[in-house]
Amino acid sequence: MGQTLTEKILDDHLVEGELETGEEIGIEIDQVLTQDTTGTMVWLQFEAMGLDEVQTEIAAQYCDHQTYQFDFKNTDDHRFLRSAAGTYGAHFSRPGNGICHNVHRENFAAPGKTLLGSDSHTPTPGGLGELAIGAGGIDVTVAMGGAPYYIEMPEIVNVRLEGELPEWATAKDVILEMLRRLSVKGGVGKILEYTGPGVETLTAPERMTITNMGTELGATTSIFPTDEQTEDYLERVGRGEEYVELQPDDDADYDDEIVVDLSDLEPLIATPSMPDNVVPVSEVAGESVEQVIVGSCTNGGYEDILPVAKMLEGRETAMETETIVAPGSKQASEMLAREGWVAEMMAAGVNFSEATCGACIGIGHVPASDSVSLRTFNRNFEGRSGIEDDNVYLCSPEVAAAAALKGEIVDPRDLADELEDLEDPGVELPDEYDGSKTDLITPDEAVDDELIKGPNIGDVPLKDQLGDDVAGEALLKMEDNITTDHIIPATQDILMYRSNVPKLSEFTLSRVDDTFAERALEADGGFLVAGENYGQGSSREHAALCPMYLGIEGVLAQSFARIHRANLFNFGIVPLTIDEDTYANIDQGDEIEIVDDVYDAVTSGQEEFTVRVNGDEEYTATLDASERERDILAAGGKLAWTKAQAEGSG
Ligand code: SF4
Repeated sequence: MGQTLTEKILDDHLVEGELETGEEIGIEIDQVLTQDTTGTMVWLQFEAMGLDEVQTEIAAQYCDHQTYQFDFKNTDDHRFLRSAAGTYGAHFSRPGNGICHNVHRENFAAPGKTLLGSDSHTPTPGGLGELAIGAGGIDVTVAMGGAPYYIEMPEIVNVRLEGELPEWATAKDVILEMLRRLSVKGGVGKILEYTGPGVETLTAPERMTITNMGTELGATTSIFPTDEQTEDYLERVGRGEEYVELQPDDDADYDDEIVVDLSDLEPLIATPSMPDNVVPVSEVAGESVEQVIVGSCTNGGYEDILPVAKMLEGRETAMETETIVAPGSKQASEMLAREGWVAEMMAAGVNFSEATCGACIGIGHVPASDSVSLRTFNRNFEGRSGIEDDNVYLCSPEVAAAAALKGEIVDPRDLADELEDLEDPGVELPDEYDGSKTDLITPDEAVDDELIKGPNIGDVPLKDQLGDDVAGEALLKMEDNITTDHIIPATQDILMYRSNVPKLSEFTLSRVDDTFAERALEADGGFLVAGENYGQGSSREHAALCPMYLGIEGVLAQSFARIHRANLFNFGIVPLTIDEDTYANIDQGDEIEIVDDVYDAVTSGQEEFTVRVNGDEEYTATLDASERERDILAAGGKLAWTKAQAEGSG
């Protein structure tokens, strides 16, 4: 049986396990990327691992999410990140240089390589044949230290593209069609591999619009084969020598197949407030639009903004519609400026903005209350734009430009009938991507060779190896469905302490009990008790790191959410499952003792543990864990485990 493209790349990087769906595999990582909101913790953890320099071929630190330097904390974070990149041998992209995925694709993404990034849209360079996966910060830290990345082998789905896009339909409509059909959960546990005759009709940047938004389907990643289009793009960015041809075998075996005929597509739009609420643009035409924004990591490339500039050239945007263009990279801004397009857009009424995530996460350009905002972004979750009751629509740059001209949602085909000389601008790549590289500091050009930490940047706490005696007070008893937001709230006033674990820890579980953090520190060790689905929500690793800092040794819960459970292992907290009866019999304030020799029991694979409550009653708790998870727990967490592995091998 032949191999899929995904299997070929995984095979090349496989260090542990077999490529069978559902099996745990370990893969070697060639490149890592991190951004400013996740990066500080990545580097603090890297420092704590005690390594001298990054071990991957490429490590890149971008400053894109919080480029507006409101007060010293963001600026200090950026300076710390520059110093960490310089100290440990990573590339550093200065604030304002652009969004991580755009700058990465211009400078580093390459076919056949593996990329791990602490950002959910890391799969973007899948459009160039790179196997790129988003992960938690600690996974990126560990990969940067040279250790494999472990993942359950996903299903591989063949997305067969046929035909060719008709006029005014774009790559954005391909991925919106996928969302319309599969929903935001349709890609979970899957890698989407694009094949078929339609592939060659799409340029590499168009493919990257599709792979970028595979994240909205919940997919592990998405990938395209490589061909002349890939080679052509790499030549234009000045890295033609990095091209390799990569195709699946003709008899490759996929877990599933989806067929999309490009010729059937038309301009589509995601209505508020989910990326899979997709309808034809014509269905919502006539809705008046107060704000249009073109940009983000999905549609912020030179070739995304050029069509907008062409459509607006010599015309004026509607008086009632504010139109903002925020390119994905400074290189794109610079090229558009040199060619005169920035001036054309400004003359048409565009507010030209910095290359940043900005509006995508509600930092700047927040829509007016009770108004429609049309954006070329990838997400329109309620409240993400910075106002609770927002009405954000997602569409292609062409649909956005049409709305900017008309002041209302309009199918660009209808606008073309209405306006003389309005033609589909099509996709045009520049001869050469020739913006300056001033804002990308290579390891050789590093300006710092030691870490610079401002007052808001603390150390990462490390846990000792697991002991045999684990005992303490049940410091907090919680109900079912406690979220990571309950454990560490994500509001701006709290998350600004993301680089300062002692300070951030003061807010741990404050939404449940505002005395908890203080009591935990005083008790110097103890347990959390919870009902079903403990830790649901995001992958926020601070939700395990802060309890660890406060001395929490174990969590006794009826069940755990998948990612948070992994994070508990990663930070050396023992996650034990208890039944309903046990849960009912433990009260806050009870003294808990695990009767077994815990270190020995964990490392020897023991599944059932005896929990003694208040010195007499005994209950059974279960540890369901793989051998690797047990080793990580016994070592005191993933950092300590990786450190020990590196010392052992070196
Ligand atoms: Fe994330 Fe938006 Fe930035 Fe893309 S532009 S990396 S989706 S915040």
